[in-house]
Amino acid sequence: MIYQRSSQLFAEAEKVIPGGVNSPVRAFKGVGGTPIFAKSAKGAYLYDEDDNRYIDYINSWGPMILGHAFPPVVEAIIEKAKKGTSFGMPTELETKIAELAVSMVPNIDKIRFVNSGTEACMSAIRLARGFTKRDKIIKFAGCYHGHSDSFLIQAGSGASTFGTPNSPGVTQGTAKDTLLASFNDLDNVKALFEANQNEIAAIIVEPVAGNMGCVPPTVGFLQSLRELCDANNTLLIFDEVMTGFRLAKGGVQELFNVRADIVCYGKVIGGGLPVGAFAAREEIMNYLSPLGPVYQAGTLSGNPLAMAAGFAMLKTLNEDATIFKRLEEKTTYLHKGIEKVLLANNIVFTINRVGSMISVHFDANPVIDFHTAKNGDNETFKKFFHGLLKEGVYIAPSAYETWFITDALTYEDLDFTIKAIDKVSKSL
Ligand code: PMP
Repeated sequence: MIYQRSSQLFAEAEKVIPGGVNSPVRAFKGVGGTPIFAKSAKGAYLYDEDDNRYIDYINSWGPMILGHAFPPVVEAIIEKAKKGTSFGMPTELETKIAELAVSMVPNIDKIRFVNSGTEACMSAIRLARGFTKRDKIIKFAGCYHGHSDSFLIQAGSGASTFGTPNSPGVTQGTAKDTLLASFNDLDNVKALFEANQNEIAAIIVEPVAGNMGCVPPTVGFLQSLRELCDANNTLLIFDEVMTGFRLAKGGVQELFNVRADIVCYGKVIGGGLPVGAFAAREEIMNYLSPLGPVYQAGTLSGNPLAMAAGFAMLKTLNEDATIFKRLEEKTTYLHKGIEKVLLANNIVFTINRVGSMISVHFDANPVIDFHTAKNGDNETFKKFFHGLLKEGVYIAPSAYETWFITDALTYEDLDFTIKAIDKVSKSL
């Protein structure tokens, strides 16, 4: 493969954009080399500026459940754009998508739209703090909830790739209100409750973690968090930015039958446009401005283009129950195929998977938290990543990321991918 134009574009970008990118993990720092520049994408395929084709397993970090440039989403955006791109006023479509989201997800009565997952999580903890009149939150190492100050404490994803989990600029004052626990370690959470009685406003968790690779909750973990929250008058926040509308219509709440108090969304809910949202039962949501005292706002929140894209996406997911079944089947097929070729090539690995989220870790031991996720052999991952890229398969440029399966993938694409993994494994 030739990456000539991508390399030139990256050199030009570096002069005017810090690190040449607008979001760090795109820079390939975790895997070395220069990033490829996207030119277009359709269905399961991504094309770069050198006209190389890749089967895409990132899918804009999750949202393209139905494939790139999904026609109903594209058409909805075009039609809306003709009528104006932003008003800073309420529109009917905002109510329509809110009604739809509330009907799809259990335990939520009201939802507010924002512009990113970061904003959704940041606003959710402000709301939880306002509602409970407490300051502290518990977050789990390796879970990423966006780049707002309270969360940049041992966050996963890009922050881990760079080994700078605690960013300068986050004040000690802010950091002290974020208590850190180990994912899947209930005793750890109990100890934090005991040491901070009546002080913890919320636990925020990726209910299926996706930012240290895919790390499922152990059986009963989420239910136990629910019980601990109930016993301590603490709110349970599910960050479903990756999992929402992907693992099931109603997200992880539905999948594992556990109730959250506040749920955060991003990406998917905008059909790939910059959207986030947070939702809860009425009593909590009514605490938000202008009804209640907790302030939260946004000039472009509920933007018509984003709402049109999101509505087209959610409507499709709501009306076609076979999508989630197909996603499960395709990912199982891929899972089995990868397992077979890695075993045949004597590679040491662990595969984690929940529904259409899957990750390959180059370590023999179970990956259950941030600590075990970090044991993976990064040098092997780098070779794996670049080998696959050359074969026309695009996975995330970091060992701490999840692969997202899209319904646009055919079984031929999956076979192509498995063959590519077989070939690359022989050179690891
Ligand atoms: N929460 C989770 C679970 C995420 O994966 C991400 C982004 N990958 C965010 C929050 C932040 O979303 P955004 O990048 O849209 O701000």
